[in-house]
Amino acid sequence: MMLTGIRQMEMKEISLPAIVRPNDVLIKMSVVGVCGSDIHYYTQGQIGSQVVEYPFTVGHEGAGIVVETGSDVKRVRPGDAIAIEPAMPCWECDQCLAGRHHTCRKLRFLGCPGQAEGCLMEYIVMPEESCFPLSGGLHADHGSISEPLAIGVYAVKKSGGVKGLDVGILGFGPIGMSVLLAAKAEGAKSFTVTDKIQARLSLALKEGATSIFNPGKEDFTSGLTEHHPLGLDVVFECCGQQEAFDQAIDVLKPGGRLVVVGIPEFDEWSMNVERTRRKEISLQFIRRQVDCVETALDLMESGKINIANMVTHRFPFSGTKEAFDLVAEYGDGVMKAMIDFR
Ligand SMILES: [Zn+2]
Ligand SMILES: [Zn+2]
Repeated sequence: MMLTGIRQMEMKEISLPAIVRPNDVLIKMSVVGVCGSDIHYYTQGQIGSQVVEYPFTVGHEGAGIVVETGSDVKRVRPGDAIAIEPAMPCWECDQCLAGRHHTCRKLRFLGCPGQAEGCLMEYIVMPEESCFPLSGGLHADHGSISEPLAIGVYAVKKSGGVKGLDVGILGFGPIGMSVLLAAKAEGAKSFTVTDKIQARLSLALKEGATSIFNPGKEDFTSGLTEHHPLGLDVVFECCGQQEAFDQAIDVLKPGGRLVVVGIPEFDEWSMNVERTRRKEISLQFIRRQVDCVETALDLMESGKINIANMVTHRFPFSGTKEAFDLVAEYGDGVMKAMIDFR
């Protein structure tokens, strides 16, 4: 399923990908989740400096069934249901050797222009390191959701921990929700959630948000003072909006931590010197995740995280464009739309 222009998509017949290296795994896709970054490529043709050259296939939140394995593969066998980690690092550069393979100098990432075609196709080949077997009652949706969920798990980890703390989540799309689920699993004390879409705020309440605000309709920063007069300990910016970044600085208590997960459509953040300095705000940016897919799968398997409310819409492979249009327009209360292969 290829992007062929801005908001254009076509299904094309291509040959079956082949196993080349001894650690390659041929996978038949079961399901692919539609991610906000796929939508950026669909509607803008780029994210920052990463520009699509048409035709191009996106998609990186996948799960599938192993069809065939290279001679060295030990981790999975034909027939196994697996989650697919979309990052393919080189395992040799300074970043990889330092355990930071998500910022690998030669990183290839599924559905990332100039790196690798995405998994919105019936069969793909991935290295064994990207294959995580689904066990203990986990099915394809868990495998696919493990990708965004791992980002939530990682963001919470990079925040320095949230146990017993008052947490803010600004923006409640799939990533905001992943952060909430991960923070809840870790035992945060309260969850203040903002979003401009009412359906998402209702979902946040269902998932245990202790207070919700719609900053499009009410003054979030003064409203928050009622519930948390001293401010919040940790705020996760999950929508990529300058307005939310500024609100985060406003509602954090002195010594608070701001974790920026959202991907903006603009090029530069700005921040108030006086308030960030006087409050001694710590700022942490998040680049996807590293080594958190397995943790995300374990959290779902143990029942500490339940993703039942995350998937709101399903489309057949042939309806991928419809799914993208729905997600691009934030239509029908969509949280995560899934593409099913048959
Ligand atoms: Zn994603
Ligand atoms: Zn590397």
